[in-house]
Amino acid sequence: MQTHFSSGQLADAATATSEAVIRKCVHCGFCLATCPTYLLLGDELDSPRGRIYLIKDMLENDRVPTPKVVEHIDRCLSCLACMTTCPSGVNYMHLIDHARGYIERRCTRPLSQRLLRGLLAFVLPHPHRFRWALALARLARPATPLLNKLALLKPVVALLSLAPSRAVAAPASLAPSTAPAHRRGRVAVLQGCVEPVLRPEIRAATVRLLNRSGYDVTFASGEVCCGALVHHMGREQGTLAAVRRNVDVWTRELERHGLDAIVITASGCGTHIKNYGFLLREDSAYARRAARVSALAKDVSELLADTPLPAGQGRGLTVAYHAACSLQHGQQAAGGAQRLLEAAGYQVRTPAEAHICCGSAGTYNLLQPRIAARLAERKVANLERTRADVIATGNIGCAVQIGQRASVPVVHVVELLDWATGGPAPPTLAHRASQTGR
Ligand code: SF4
Ligand code: SF4
Repeated sequence: MQTHFSSGQLADAATATSEAVIRKCVHCGFCLATCPTYLLLGDELDSPRGRIYLIKDMLENDRVPTPKVVEHIDRCLSCLACMTTCPSGVNYMHLIDHARGYIERRCTRPLSQRLLRGLLAFVLPHPHRFRWALALARLARPATPLLNKLALLKPVVALLSLAPSRAVAAPASLAPSTAPAHRRGRVAVLQGCVEPVLRPEIRAATVRLLNRSGYDVTFASGEVCCGALVHHMGREQGTLAAVRRNVDVWTRELERHGLDAIVITASGCGTHIKNYGFLLREDSAYARRAARVSALAKDVSELLADTPLPAGQGRGLTVAYHAACSLQHGQQAAGGAQRLLEAAGYQVRTPAEAHICCGSAGTYNLLQPRIAARLAERKVANLERTRADVIATGNIGCAVQIGQRASVPVVHVVELLDWATGGPAPPTLAHRASQTGR
């Protein structure tokens, strides 16, 4: 695509990167076929190619983004299906990230949106605040039908729906643990923000599984949320503060005690941490260390793919595997989890439209609840058509989004791997385990 940026504009590194991305696009339109928002809305401006045009026009002309442009950019899920499809190697992720930051700097959103976005940025990255917010949300649940009648409050209703019906369980232990035998290395597990509050059993299963596979496990002291949630909202300052803090924390851990990997159980976080090196590429004090952290980051399924697990017992279960977009498109690493499940003895089924997002996408289901709900319903219908006993995924956002609608349990891949190799049954499958005695 031809561009017309001035040399002054291109002196800005972020603009220069975006210009290089835009120039790679050859307008072929292949990406339209796999874009979830284009699939649902049928509007070119809600497709990757349409958004590239909008961003190009906004950046080239240094325009204050209009509400229409903001709407089309906001509707993008950042699912990155377009990157998997694009034959020209357009790095849409870098472009949309730049556009989101530009919009946040240059546009004043309506008060209701500013309040909601501020609330999400204040609560979600902080497990203690999130735990309190869920407790309050449970109390507010009876008011949901009333709130649902007011369009303005639909995002609040989506937020309330995150609250589990049971009380939130205590956080899983952060104590370091060692491999009982055949030691392969030492890893730090990302502590996360939303996952340990909503599903602490995922961390517990991960630690058991890693120990059993020969890894000593630690949790780096001083770590904060990876920054992905605020990054998706274009909040650059908050993002970079979180990134620098974590680079400091993991570098200290690496240099003092040695680390073979930073293991991530939520693939949305993994995609973001693998991008730390890019985010801090212009920061001379951090660039090298950030790139090293990114190189160490591994989805738990990637690490385990290189590690022979003890023989598994799949217990006759059929599993519909939902590959999170962040894993299949963001990291191009979805195959590992499926192979691990099969090796552990499960019968894995792949749903139709496996490449299409479930609508969770970070804070998307809270900020764009209507589109997110349509995508979730479509995803759940495809998953349930496989007639599997259980749905497995590798990202907490997808697990919640799908779990709210699915009629079968939704678990993390590590919970099934842990169970098959000697750990306890996942809490959502304990009933089945006691019925079958397996
Ligand atoms: S990231 Fe996803 S929603 Fe956004 S343009 Fe690409 S395919 Fe469409
Ligand atoms: S597939 Fe790639 S090159 Fe083709 S229009 Fe989409 S982004 Fe541009």
